[in-house]
Amino acid sequence: MSIVQIVTIIGSIPLFSLRTFLPAFLTALLLTYPEYFPGLEGVPAVSEEAFISRNWVLIVLGSLSLLEIIGDKNTDVRNLLKNAETYLKPIAFLAINLSLLDETSVEVLQEVQWAAFDPLWVVLAFGALMVHWLATLRRDFLDFLEDIDEDDNLFIGRITSWIEDSLVVFGFLLLIWTGIIMVILYATAIAFFVFIRKRYDKKLEEQKLKCFNCGEKNLPFAVKCVNCKKLQPQIYAIGIFGQKKEELIVNVEKHQLNLLSHRKCADCGNKLDSNRLFQNCHFCGNAHFQSPTVKEFIKNQDKKFYKIAGLSFLLGFVPVVGFLTSAVIANIHLFSPYRRYIPKGSSFLTKVFIKILTFLFFVVGIALGFIAAPVYIVLRYYIWKKKFQSRAGKSANFLSSAEKTTT
Ligand SMILES: [Zn+2]
Ligand SMILES: [Zn+2]
Repeated sequence: MSIVQIVTIIGSIPLFSLRTFLPAFLTALLLTYPEYFPGLEGVPAVSEEAFISRNWVLIVLGSLSLLEIIGDKNTDVRNLLKNAETYLKPIAFLAINLSLLDETSVEVLQEVQWAAFDPLWVVLAFGALMVHWLATLRRDFLDFLEDIDEDDNLFIGRITSWIEDSLVVFGFLLLIWTGIIMVILYATAIAFFVFIRKRYDKKLEEQKLKCFNCGEKNLPFAVKCVNCKKLQPQIYAIGIFGQKKEELIVNVEKHQLNLLSHRKCADCGNKLDSNRLFQNCHFCGNAHFQSPTVKEFIKNQDKKFYKIAGLSFLLGFVPVVGFLTSAVIANIHLFSPYRRYIPKGSSFLTKVFIKILTFLFFVVGIALGFIAAPVYIVLRYYIWKKKFQSRAGKSANFLSSAEKTTT
């Protein structure tokens, strides 16, 4: 067991915690064609019989890496793989490091008899656990980012994905040039992320307000106390990213509609995990969409829709920027409130249709934004509203018929 081996194993931990296949592919590529890597021109390649340098292994790993890079840019694919990845990554880490062990040091290891025990196994087992732990940490951090920008309106998800891809490539090069520096850099970065996360949780806790009646701590935008259900005297407005705004609300009903559009409990303000319309809040037990109702919610969305469609016509006269601005505004204020109640990836065809539509309108929007922007908003709004209504209709049919009999 050499120092270089240990540094390589430890250094590849952060790479595998970010991506499953890309680091594996880069390693295989390096071992087969070291001459193409800057600074490693003189390094001999592994023998052609080595498993990792076989053509089909390279092709499979390369294709999987490419799929991984593309798939990670899609919110649905990312969500689908999110939990499985925390186990796939340590497996990929072990597979690659074991095959390396096999190719490079098997002879050395055979000579050094550690009484059937090799300390390298300890390092590898530790490494796999670290990869799992870091991959979980990464998943939680991405969840936290998703909370801010759930539908990737601001492209936060896509930007972090590109950053991660480049980190893997950069980290890999750094690892083969100066392994130790890479290990130190990543340790610092991880410590920083843990710190940010802790601070965010602390800030949320600090923002909570004590109930005037029972003393229970409530979210700053809670309408009623989570414990005693008393109406709170001080209710803060909620921002477009679900954050606390520094202004108090005046209209309770409008504020509650706002909470609903963030898929938060209209009473206690806590986030609801499920995207079902009719459910009870886990924190205060309030029945979701009972007050305000689905009808009031849609009416409120419609009102915003007329305003934003009108605004998009005016904005459309500014080339490119006008169209983009109105698309972002519509996403945040019109589509997301509906989308939050519709299961992700529920209809692939609608998604493809919307992607094509967006692209077409983007092209037309460059010159004729004042037409493209409103038409784009009308069509997409109509699609999301219909989906939301059909989702509401399925479970609300009996509710509305019950309503009719009582009125
Ligand atoms: Zn209370
Ligand atoms: Zn609640």
